[in-house]
Amino acid sequence: MDDCVFCKIINKEIPAKPVFEDEDLIVINDIDPKAPVHMLIMPKKHIANLDALTEEDSSIVSKILMAAQRLAKEKNIMARYKIVTNVGEIAGQTVMHMHFHMLGGWKSNSEVTTQLKQQL
Ligand code: 5GP
Ligand code: ZN
Repeated sequence: MDDCVFCKIINKEIPAKPVFEDEDLIVINDIDPKAPVHMLIMPKKHIANLDALTEEDSSIVSKILMAAQRLAKEKNIMARYKIVTNVGEIAGQTVMHMHFHMLGGWKSNSEVTTQLKQQL
């Protein structure tokens, strides 16, 4: 897709440092993070959103979720993340190339307290 910013990143027309990529998917850090860890996991194939996903391409979703599980281990954010995909402008989708937000890495109140005490 010519005017798709994520296709441009995938095709290296816009420089980016992917967190991970293989032949089917790419993971990048969100340019405007909404959590301590905020990555975008997406297929390399241009698919507008979940509404446009065909049965034929549907295996990409399990690949994306297994990549998320792997990244949670690598980034040490297991049991503290969520996966969100916005479908359509009304739901907040701004880039029409299907992507799954992986948001996480928050600390619990007791962890923050412990950390602050250690700094005293
Ligand atoms: P959406 O609102 O479509 O669900 O999410 C699009 C996300 O892509 C937003 O969180 C936005 O910050 C991110 N984003 C938009 N343009 C770029 C870009 O050029 N590079 C990166 N890394 N993220 C982008
Ligand atoms: Zn695209």
